[in-house]
Amino acid sequence: MLTRDVAICIRAVDYSETSQIVSFFTRASGKISAIAKGSKRPKSAFDGPIEIFSSGEIVFSHRPERKLATLTEFEQRPVLTPQHGIDLFALNCGYFAGELLDHLTDECDPHPELFDSFEQFLQNTFEAVGRGDFLLLLILFQLSLLKEVGLRPILDACVNCKSRYATSQREVYFSSDGNGLVCRDCEANFADKIRVSRQAANTLANLKTIGDANEKTLTEIERILIHHFTEILHKPPKMAKYIVKS
Ligand SMILES: [Zn+2]
Repeated sequence: MLTRDVAICIRAVDYSETSQIVSFFTRASGKISAIAKGSKRPKSAFDGPIEIFSSGEIVFSHRPERKLATLTEFEQRPVLTPQHGIDLFALNCGYFAGELLDHLTDECDPHPELFDSFEQFLQNTFEAVGRGDFLLLLILFQLSLLKEVGLRPILDACVNCKSRYATSQREVYFSSDGNGLVCRDCEANFADKIRVSRQAANTLANLKTIGDANEKTLTEIERILIHHFTEILHKPPKMAKYIVKS
């Protein structure tokens, strides 16, 4: 059966001299892995080798008993336009987002809203300027990813005693095990907790203000999220070290 869908390439590896195995995040079918036969030939059905972040309409056939689908058509629209010169940090943020998306979603499990937010994230990131903006976009995407896969962290109250976060609180922590902020009275129950600065806690508890956060605060929030993703995945994400120095 042939399926037509809108897709963004999140991984592409060489399979042979002429073929690739590609992972797409599609709007209606979720993540799929497919073999693109002949994609590396100069005249292929896919406008040349398939590159990460290229997007467009794909057609693929998938039999449930097979792990890999077969890609039959792909009209590539590059999301990236190298002639404009890509900021390496922006590119790394894109790779990191793609890596997390790949790890946290299952094959053939559709998340149309997550597809839209990933597409928007890539477009905004490749048009943005400045490290603060890249971090802001990455953090917002990571939070929407967590929400979409059912792991939305609790950031406006203590996950343990449920007391609402107040800016007067003297010490605030984040626990990955608890999936959110933890107050001083409860922190002893969470071995994995990390201390959160007042500025970062204020921003996390009131995400509408994140656009006003400075780069230092955004870097701290990204470090907290990397800690969180490391716990969720039981290993540090590969791209994390290119985003925030540990
Ligand atoms: Zn508490």
